Amino acid sequence: MKQLEKLYEGKAKQVVATEDPTRIIIHYKDDATAFNNIKKATIYNKGILSNAISTLIFRHLEAQGIPTHYLDTLNERDQLCRKVQIFPIEVVVRNIIAGSMARHLGMAEGFEPKNTIYDICYKNDDLGDPLMNDHQAVALELATYEELAEIYDLAGRINEVLKELFLKIGIKLVDFKVEFGKTEDGRIVLADELSPDTCRLWDIETGEKLDHDRFRRDLGGVREAYEEILRRLEGCMK
Ligand code: UDP
Repeated sequence: MKQLEKLYEGKAKQVVATEDPTRIIIHYKDDATAFNNIKKATIYNKGILSNAISTLIFRHLEAQGIPTHYLDTLNERDQLCRKVQIFPIEVVVRNIIAGSMARHLGMAEGFEPKNTIYDICYKNDDLGDPLMNDHQAVALELATYEELAEIYDLAGRINEVLKELFLKIGIKLVDFKVEFGKTEDGRIVLADELSPDTCRLWDIETGEKLDHDRFRRDLGGVREAYEEILRRLEGCMK
């Protein structure tokens, strides 16, 4: 698939046009950012690891009947995906309290509520991706109530599949962020990526953080954590 012009450059990825207007290529970079771009670094081969991990997760979700934008992995940094119109909404699914929810509500990290928590944020860097509710998202015409209902349903199904997958490899799926898009024929599908950049993953035995928090919180061993997640996923999917 021939690569044409760059359509978009994000923090960790580039989106590149192809000869087919319904297909794009997602290119994974080694850049790491946190706190809305205030903290930046390059982590050697992180893009390769995130591409490999996201590939395994998207293939697994597709096999479990979750519609996604994923089509193929072309090489160690590039994925071929369906071109979608992204909803400017980040959906965060939380099984265990951590990060911004712990901070905003004064809760202890690690508390496991009985219910699953769904947050939505407005994807807008200038505003710092603020938390919003469904009514605000509809008022901003980011999505309709019907689309939001479908998005929450998909997010819940993704959570069930991923909790089970990570449990098999000795990992607690604490929380994760997902984005959705609409295909040309109007279907809502999972888009973006799922990797340690977008999930909190804690080792069940040791509680060790094996995700992007190692970068955000200066814990060191970021690449090693991503390598460990990839190694365990490959082992379980053989
Ligand atoms: N997350 C993400 N991109 C963002 C914000 C959050 O992928 O721009 C992920 C993050 O890695 C975590 C989950 O969403 O797995 C919840 O993040 P939280 O709201 O706690 O924000 P944080 O405190 O990490 O900024």
